[in-house]
Amino acid sequence: MAADRAGKRTASLRPASIVDGVYDNIYERLMSLEIAPGARIPIDVIARDLDVSPTPVREALSLLEREGLVRKAHLIGYSAAPQLTRKQFDDLYTFRLLLEPEGARLAALNMTTDTLKLLEDAAADMGHGDAPVDRTSRYSRFARADADFHDAILKIAGNEVIRSTLFNQHVHLHIFRLMFHTRVTQEALEEHEDLLVAFRAGDPLAAEAAMRNHILRSRDRLLSAFE
Ligand SMILES: [Zn+2]
Repeated sequence: MAADRAGKRTASLRPASIVDGVYDNIYERLMSLEIAPGARIPIDVIARDLDVSPTPVREALSLLEREGLVRKAHLIGYSAAPQLTRKQFDDLYTFRLLLEPEGARLAALNMTTDTLKLLEDAAADMGHGDAPVDRTSRYSRFARADADFHDAILKIAGNEVIRSTLFNQHVHLHIFRLMFHTRVTQEALEEHEDLLVAFRAGDPLAAEAAMRNHILRSRDRLLSAFE
């Protein structure tokens, strides 16, 4: 484990955000595969690396468990969740294709100047980010920002069953963890722009098609993780 880097990150933490800081540290290492799928995550080692007590580590791990990124086994403790199998990957994309194009269509029908502004801001954040950060942070933040962007569209769509069903799968975290690659992020940004064009035009069918295209292309990009 990268004790040095972890230590440096901890130094800048404010006491009030210790759990957040520990969470971010473990989250980034899971997303970049620095902590390999299936690897054990001993609470005492993490606590020592980050120079914190075991309590915030336990809290952070329990948040990550809720997102399906870590697992807890009786007497063994926490470990990184295994990677998606090819079957799980295919199932997730079938599921997304069923719900998200329809979500984009509904969102286009409901779109207002204000909600469009929110989406434009979310897309811009993904493009530039805030501070200059290392590749690992950028990638893991992109996964989160992409999840937020898709969730924002489904909020605007206004069908809470569709939104919560997708949200609870934490699709983006699992698919981004398959592959650590910046091409994934650049191409996704271009496809998001196609979606925004459809939303700006108030065109529900174009929004539906743009979302379907984005999901199909995302699936193709990530399929190479199974080769
Ligand atoms: Zn996306």
